[in-house]
Amino acid sequence: MSLIQITCPQCQNIINFKSYETIQYDELLSLAPYSLKCDHCGYVNSVIYQSIVKYPQQSQLIYVLPPNEKLNDELFNKGLGLLQQDDTLNSRLVTSENELIEKLLILNSDLDDRIVELVKLEAHHFVKQNEPQFNILHMLLNRDKEGFFLALFLDDGQSITLEVDPEVFSIADRKYHQILREFEMSAFIQIDASWGQRVMDSYLKQGGQ
Ligand SMILES: [Zn+2]
Repeated sequence: MSLIQITCPQCQNIINFKSYETIQYDELLSLAPYSLKCDHCGYVNSVIYQSIVKYPQQSQLIYVLPPNEKLNDELFNKGLGLLQQDDTLNSRLVTSENELIEKLLILNSDLDDRIVELVKLEAHHFVKQNEPQFNILHMLLNRDKEGFFLALFLDDGQSITLEVDPEVFSIADRKYHQILREFEMSAFIQIDASWGQRVMDSYLKQGGQ
């Protein structure tokens, strides 16, 4: 753990912010590692920084790399070392807090993030065909008490939601099972829309529908 002093942007109080290199999933709530909080004025903001979240139940390591930040070689090598010690571990890279939250939701829901990404891509194409006025910037899977839904963030700042029947994931799992077996998963791969597009392109090239 390291301590960084940050000046509160609201009241100029000095905040002692604790950052961690590796964080156990179970500690995410108790440590709130990405939450900057001023005890003086109550200012709260989220701050992500390079770190590795360990999700032991699903043997997953998640490397958090904020956008436009240079990779911390020392920490990344530490992650690679952990992968070498245990070949049952999967690893992923995320570049925002929302992506991290989505990844943890997927793990907690026993879903496959690769399948989720392909379902998102299909939903994207569906919306593009049926509602061409919507220009989607990105999508996130979420869940409330009613079930899963996709949040679609549009270029005009609005967002819309699409309900997702969980059966969709099983159907996609059967559909893309074979093509996913052929896709090599490099260490700390980022499963995002462009990754999904590459898989989809190969799937279509091989005659999939
Ligand atoms: Zn403050």
